Amino acid sequence: MEKIQSIRGMNDLLPEQSGYWQFVERMLARAVELYGYQEIRTPIAEHTALFKRSIGEDTDIVEKEMYTFDDKGGDSITLRPENTASCIRAGIEHGLFHHQKQKFWYVGPMFRHERPQKGRYRQFHQFGCEAIGWPGPDIDAELIQMTARFLAKLGLKNLTLELNSIGTASERKIYRQHLVAYFENHLAGLDEDSKRRLTTNPLRIFDSKVPATRTIIKKAPHLESFLSEESRLHFQRLCQLLDDLKIDYVVNPRLVRGLDYYSLTVFEWLTDQLGAQNAVLAGGRYDGLVEQLGGKPTPGIGFAMGMERLIELLKLSNQSVNCEYSAQVYVVTDNSEQAIMRATLFSEQLRDHDINTVIHFGGGSFKSQFKRADQSGAGIAAVIGVVELAANQITIKPLRSEQEQFQLEFDQKLDNESLSTLLNLLPQ
Ligand code: ATP
Ligand code: MG
Repeated sequence: MEKIQSIRGMNDLLPEQSGYWQFVERMLARAVELYGYQEIRTPIAEHTALFKRSIGEDTDIVEKEMYTFDDKGGDSITLRPENTASCIRAGIEHGLFHHQKQKFWYVGPMFRHERPQKGRYRQFHQFGCEAIGWPGPDIDAELIQMTARFLAKLGLKNLTLELNSIGTASERKIYRQHLVAYFENHLAGLDEDSKRRLTTNPLRIFDSKVPATRTIIKKAPHLESFLSEESRLHFQRLCQLLDDLKIDYVVNPRLVRGLDYYSLTVFEWLTDQLGAQNAVLAGGRYDGLVEQLGGKPTPGIGFAMGMERLIELLKLSNQSVNCEYSAQVYVVTDNSEQAIMRATLFSEQLRDHDINTVIHFGGGSFKSQFKRADQSGAGIAAVIGVVELAANQITIKPLRSEQEQFQLEFDQKLDNESLSTLLNLLPQ
């Protein structure tokens, strides 16, 4: 029969990899807890309107990348392409922003219908944080500092932090008019995609990779000259704080970000090690978003990091991470009913003490079972055969030391002396 395969761009995470992911996720959760962030889990599907209204109708995500379908009741549903909108929706829905500030973190799958390639998938994972209720720029600096800290802790060097201010929505509106006028004067030189963006989302032209368009972009007016005094001060203060914290950054006046809800601060951590997929982490301030989604005006800032790209970078950095699963005790038997019963009872006693214990089911020669025991990474094999059953004992065979094998009395409860003898034989 024809095999059913996974959906293109959606990957299995196999056991040999999952330890690595768990390690990184635990580390990140702890890193942001240090700053007061708490986990939030929202559904992976939302009403389509949520993303249209927040991310914006004229963005790449909403225009071309969303997994949208009608459910059986006829409602338009979308698999989340990102998680900021859901966090804000949840916060408003549960009244979490009433006279309170919130710091959320999340990790989980996101869905975008893009052309799959290395570092770009249709189901991918983001780890992200949202700080809602603070107008900044102090929290902006703290959030960026936090990202710098955990990236460094993960041992990632050679990442560049790019920073920009994209002003407020009204400042951008005026800028947009000037930008459109400029590009219209250079219409012939623009690529087709950029021509289309000229009417829908002209700031996104900055993301074009077409050389002729890039040349035109170079001379386009800068947003900076359209910023109000207040916006300018916000950015200056942020830069000052980052300087004080000794965080290196590059101000990139062309950094705009692909989602409509951003305002003022935007930033990205970039790498030159992953080809075209150079953004590892991206974020920014979204002061209008809570109101846009039906809440009271409330400022916010957040970031999202691509887990696949992060883990790829970690692998390239060649650090050894000890996160592989390993059994600690491997139980070998003669496969008789009695031996299996004894093995099960003994294993439960070990598990009561937090010891990873694997019983060899399915029989086989002792030789082949010991081979498995060795491969399992266990520090000891516990042997139960005819002799042990008759003597009411269990033979303990150290697998990683020269020590001779010895017998334990089998009892309803593991006594402390036997337990500490066993623990001493387990690899640290
Ligand atoms: P790109 O320019 O690479 O398409 P983006 O601006 O669309 O990125 P964001 O929406 O800002 O990305 O998402 C934040 C992060 O999530 C990105 O920096 C990236 O690390 C990761 N990411 C985004 N889309 C994908 C994808 N399709 N596959 C894997 N990771 C992704
Ligand atoms: Mg994208």
